[in-house]
Formats: sequence, C-alpha cells, structure tokens
Amino acid sequence: MNVAIVGGGIVGLASAYYLAERGADVTVYEKGSLGSGSTERSVGGIRAQFSTPVNVELSLASMAVWEAFANEFGTDIAYRRPGYLFAAREEATARAFEEQVAMQNDLGVPSELLAPEEATDHCPGLRAEEFVAATYSPTDGFADPHLALQGFAEAARESGAEIRTRTAVTEIHREGEANDAEVTGLTVKGSERRDADFVVNAAGPWARRVAAMAGVEIPVAPERRQIAVVDPETPVPEDVPLTIDLDTGSHFRPEREGKALVGGHFGGDSEERRSSESASGKTATGEDPEADPEQDPDGFDRKIDLDWAVEAVERASDCATYFGPDSEIRRGWAGLYAVTPDHHPIVEETRPGLVNAVGFSGHGFQHAPATGQLVAELVLDGEASLVDISALGSDRFERETLLEERNVA
Ligand SMILES: Cc1cc2nc3c(=O)[nH]c(=O)nc-3n(C[C@H](O)[C@H](O)[C@H](O)COP(=O)(O)OP(=O)(O)OC[C@H]3O[C@@H](n4cnc5c(N)ncnc54)[C@H](O)[C@@H]3O)c2cc1C
Repeated sequence: MNVAIVGGGIVGLASAYYLAERGADVTVYEKGSLGSGSTERSVGGIRAQFSTPVNVELSLASMAVWEAFANEFGTDIAYRRPGYLFAAREEATARAFEEQVAMQNDLGVPSELLAPEEATDHCPGLRAEEFVAATYSPTDGFADPHLALQGFAEAARESGAEIRTRTAVTEIHREGEANDAEVTGLTVKGSERRDADFVVNAAGPWARRVAAMAGVEIPVAPERRQIAVVDPETPVPEDVPLTIDLDTGSHFRPEREGKALVGGHFGGDSEERRSSESASGKTATGEDPEADPEQDPDGFDRKIDLDWAVEAVERASDCATYFGPDSEIRRGWAGLYAVTPDHHPIVEETRPGLVNAVGFSGHGFQHAPATGQLVAELVLDGEASLVDISALGSDRFERETLLEERNVA
C-alpha cells in the first residue's frame, strides 16, 4: 500500500510511523521543516478531562503510548504528570463538572470533583474564594512537543518511511465524478507527480486548503493563540497542575525554575490587535498585522502581543496568587489552532483514497498517538477499531448533529 502524507507535524509523523510499522510504503511531504506548523508551538498538555466520551477515549488510547514512549521509542519526552485542575466560577459550569467526572470515571479516568478549598491541596496558590468547584485528575500532565515529534519522526524513518521537508504538495489528483471521485496521487513543488493508493491530509491549520485540492470542503479554520513565559512574583512549584480557570479562559502551568507558561483566549484579542496596529503598517517581525490567519495561515504574526500578555498575567493573578504585580513577562509566541465548529477533529476516509486527520481544535498534540493508529487502521483495514470514531465524520456538519466539547482553553 502506497501512502502519501501531507504535513510533517505530530499527526502526520505519528500516522507515518504506524503505517510504516504495519508495512505500508509511506512518504511524508512537509512544505517547511518538521513541526514548523502548530506542533512546535504547543504547550504539550496531555489530559483525559474532556467533556465528551470520544475525546476521553482518544486521550486514553494516546496516554497509553505517551506512558510507554521512552521505552518504545527510546526518546525521553519529559513527560510529567502533575495533573490538570479545572476551576469553575459559575454554578452552571460546576454542574457540568459533575456530569463530566461521572462520565470520565465510567471510562476509567481517575478524575474527581473537588470543593475549591480541596483544590488548594494541588494548587496552593489557587484563590479558592473565587471559585465554586473544581475537578482534578492526577494522570493528566504534559510533555515536550519537540522531543515527541522527533521521536515519532525517527521511529517512522526506522520503519522505512521517507520524510521530505521543504516539499509542498501543490495538487491532489482524482479520477471519477464529484463525491465518488477517487484520489489517485499528488503533485509536489508544482511539477513532480506521484501516484498513491491513499493521500492523508494532516496539514493542521492548512487542512482546509489541502482538502480543497481534492475537491472536498471541510470547516477547519486557523485561529491564533498565544503563550507567555512568565517569571511569577512567587515561583510556581513544579508539582502544581496545569490549572484552567474555565469561565475566563485563563490557564497556566509550571515551567522549569519557578517560571510559568500562561495562556488564554479572551475573545477578540487577535482581531483587536490587528485593528490597533493597522495604522502603523507592518509589525517588528515584518509581517502584515492585518493578515487574517483564516485567509493566510502563513502570514500571521508569530510574536506575542504585549497587551494580550499583560491581560493574560492579570487574569492568571485573578486565579492564583503566584502572579503578583512584580511578575515579569520574559517572552512568548503565537501559533494557530485548527478549529472545527464543535471543537472535535475530523478523522475519516472522506473520499475513496483521501483520509482527513484534521481540526484538532487545540488538542492535536496529545491525541496524535491515537490518531496515527486510527489513520493506519482506516488505510490498511478499511475501518477504525482502536476508538469508535463514528462521531468524527465530516457529515456531522451537514446534519448539524454536533458534539459539544466544553473543556476548551
Ligand atoms: C499556543 C498553542 C498551544 C497549544 N497547546 C496544546 C496542548 O497543550 N495540547 C495539545 O494537545 N495541543 C495543543 N495545541 C494544538 C497542537 O499544537 C495541534 O493540535 C497539533 O500540533 C496539530 O498537529 P498537526 O500535525 O495536525 O498540525 P501541524 O503541526 O500544524 O502540522 C501540519 C503541517 O502541514 C504542513 N503543510 C501544510 N500544508 C502543506 C502542503 N500543501 N504541503 C506540505 N506540507 C503542508 C505545515 O507546514 C505543517 O508543518 C496548541 C496549539 C497552540 C497554537
């Protein structure tokens, strides 16, 4: 079986590994360098505290791989498990927590519902008085996305996959009519043609464009998200969980030496920035601040916006005492989420010969190990069995039977 994968991020490389390991003849085409899309911009969070069973199942199947990664792949990915702590300010959010913890427990996740005071056992700096409830799971945590990406890339190569960087896919070939058209291969760099039994679209924020090359319309939109590296006034201990103030969208996690990674999407931040900078033309990075990632996922501003970072630290300070007025913003970065309308991915054979593994909506790093195995199953077995992914087909957007993931940061 001859498989061409579009995209050398964590999803493309995990897919390459699991396909090659099972004997497929695999080539990965990456238009830039490996990980240069979203993967190297991720904070590496890995959790099972999702609000829908399919996301929990993707997490559990993936965690089994993350746990064994060092042994299986010979790469230490700095996997640490101080847990994730979700905190609710609103009663409605707290009620949803109850249902979610019951569902997660049914699926084998050791999450628990906590009173805010109990949550301070895990995050001593949490401002318990601001919250009405929390959930915590000790098996959640984070790993280093760069190391994980390299681990999958190396293992894919060792299993026989070819990985070509600086090689953009420019065309996808089809035979037949409209919805029945079969994907037969692709063109790279504008002129080099190759046949393929399957093309896998693992193009992250560019996924909609790549799908369109095959005549397929999918609702995956690139959305800019930012992370600030902060020296908090009070160092954040390394055993503090990744803490999410769910009703404000603010989140932070410990980094080395007391530092913290602080994030959050507060609505309109990127849009406000674009309009406030448009008067002065281009930014210090030389990129056009008006570039809309949705129109041009290559042209967005990769630097953090200082106003956003100040707001992010203020919001983190409303959540936990570590971020007093003497906290210092050291640096930061921006990247793209690939977002679907219901914050769930599309994992399916959309047309004969075309597998989409896209739209991970901020969760694609952690779900890559399960996704890679599912892609290999779709290609080699004709159906997925690791996880029931019947809910992740793109026809759900036509039927509007959308899933709802509430635990989105
Ligand atoms: C700030 C931030 C924080 C995040 N934190 C987390 C987190 O804590 N946990 C988590 O699970 N996820 C997180 N994510 C999301 C995660 O980074 C992504 O879901 C994941 O990296 C997606 O991997 P991917 O392989 O699908 O896409 P990408 O890594 O974007 O890879 C797609 C690749 O396709 C290539 N490509 C596109 N078009 C073409 C073409 N025509 N030809 C050839 N190559 C092409 C691109 O160059 C790119 O390298 C975060 C994202 C951001 C931005």
